[in-house]
Amino acid sequence: MTSPAALVDRISTGHRITEAEALQVLTTPDAETFTLVAEAGRLRRQHFGATVKVNYLVSLKTGLCPEDCTYCSQRLGTDAQILKYTWLKPAEAARQAGFGIRGGASRVCLVASGTGPTDRDVDRVGEIVQEVKEQNPQVEVCACLGLLKEGQAAKLREAGVDAYNHNINTARSMYPQICSTHTYDDRIETIDQATGAGLSPCSGLIAGMGETDEQMVEAVLALREMESESIPVNFLMPFDGTPLEGTWELTPLHCLRILALVRLACPDKELRIAGGREMHLRSLQPVALQVANSLFLGDYLTSEGQAAEADLEMIRDAGLTVLGTDDDGAVTSSSAPSLNPALRRRGAGTQEVPNA
Ligand code: SF4
Repeated sequence: MTSPAALVDRISTGHRITEAEALQVLTTPDAETFTLVAEAGRLRRQHFGATVKVNYLVSLKTGLCPEDCTYCSQRLGTDAQILKYTWLKPAEAARQAGFGIRGGASRVCLVASGTGPTDRDVDRVGEIVQEVKEQNPQVEVCACLGLLKEGQAAKLREAGVDAYNHNINTARSMYPQICSTHTYDDRIETIDQATGAGLSPCSGLIAGMGETDEQMVEAVLALREMESESIPVNFLMPFDGTPLEGTWELTPLHCLRILALVRLACPDKELRIAGGREMHLRSLQPVALQVANSLFLGDYLTSEGQAAEADLEMIRDAGLTVLGTDDDGAVTSSSAPSLNPALRRRGAGTQEVPNA
């Protein structure tokens, strides 16, 4: 058995974690998990110092998806009581993005439900990106629009999109259990198209869907192979009205072990604590930031996150700084955040002010 300290020493000088070592990390006893976190934190600091990259989600189009992903509150036939609306207009999308940027976000993630965009949708997103970047030239834009068809990734790149998100979500061996309307390979193909067009690949996971430890290792090593530059780790939010309603398989310590595994497998990649962090990591969220170097500020696509103000306070309290700010926590971009960020109560698609 290799100790976490010895394993991290080897990884920091170029060793790639093996499948057996990865499984050992994931099955670390509870009593030794904080030691593992401290060691994984050395890799985090080696590559990212004390910075936290803040990302902000804008749901451009929500609900009514024809796909049947079991974890998703926007899936075909769900009776989850979520907001449902069609494409936001560019000015409104840019206004929504502005809330997150003023809250410290250096990346805005523009997301639309559905199988994938039409060519008209790609043009529409291009207009939105232009509007967002006109107002905030320094911001990075990531698009998440589903499965891409030939040529669409290049059009998005030309329109100014920097990154493309398409999560693998879980292991290839588990995929047929979570979706029947598209395949794992469909997802990989879209990530390949995005990468080929010069978009930075963003792909990650949803933990807690019934996967075995071996399948979690399989998924994490697959992300390493595809060289995902940015890895969001979601923890299943089991929405009522979805097939995974009532699925609660994670403990806060196991969530930390999953994050530590991703850090050890992909030491220099952006690792983001994403949806479900509040309900699964609970009081250990700031501990998770010792391993992860990125988060989503405020709300998610169909559910509320903790107040943006609490997110920023958590970062400061942990001795970390928002990427793009000076050491005092002041934003160095032209759009400094309010000391009291506007609380997003329901956000995009409503008349209400977002939590950012
Ligand atoms: S394709 Fe996306 S929006 Fe549609 S059900 Fe699957 S995860 Fe949800």
